[in-house]
Amino acid sequence: MPKITIWNEFLHEQSNDACGELCRKHYPKGIHAYLKKALGPALEDCTIRAVSLDMPENGLPDKVLDATDVLVWWGHMAHDKVPDALVDRIQRRVLGGMGLVVLHSGHMSKIFRRMLGTPCTLRWREIGEKERVWTCDPAHPIAQGVPETFAIEHTEMYGEPFGVPDDAHVVFMSWYAGGNVFRSGVTLQRGLGRIFYFAPGHETLPIYHQPEVQRVIANGIRWCVPANGVGPAPGCPHEKAPFEPVQ
Ligand code: ZN
Repeated sequence: MPKITIWNEFLHEQSNDACGELCRKHYPKGIHAYLKKALGPALEDCTIRAVSLDMPENGLPDKVLDATDVLVWWGHMAHDKVPDALVDRIQRRVLGGMGLVVLHSGHMSKIFRRMLGTPCTLRWREIGEKERVWTCDPAHPIAQGVPETFAIEHTEMYGEPFGVPDDAHVVFMSWYAGGNVFRSGVTLQRGLGRIFYFAPGHETLPIYHQPEVQRVIANGIRWCVPANGVGPAPGCPHEKAPFEPVQ
């Protein structure tokens, strides 16, 4: 049974401003708790745990991380509060096969930038404009059951250029009413681990309530489940003896 851990910095939900109020309206117990509940039916063969930055060891002590097959990451205002030592541990585990699903503003998280090795920058605008998501690779497992195209009526714009490496495979592309476009759903592999990034999901908008968005995230989690479990990150073993006789 695949073990999924949804990590959230869980700060917007607790902030005493207009943004916090909107975030609590859509996600009263936090984005992590909402996703755990919303994705449950689509991932009924998985165990899902929701954790947050304010928990002991930032929500990811060894006993949790070492029991995680796919880690889902939502962060925005506290990327720098995630200790480098934790990023090291997550990186090792991804290289050993753990899947990593990074959502929305997690594009600037330490772990995403570490895994991709590029700035992961983009341009953005928050005026609640319409977004139209297009499925670019309908044959991809993450696109199964997802319409050819669907609209998000009010969103935060994320636009190109997106500072990701050339091996980012585009599954979804977004167009925004203001004219921008963005590679809003991309997959990568690092070591033995699969990575999926999906852009929709601004904290003050009910985007995670949308069935198409939930379907994409559930599919992304499933695609990232390691087929052979998680082991040590690949090393550089010295082959002392040849496999076949050498004359
Ligand atoms: Zn946002």
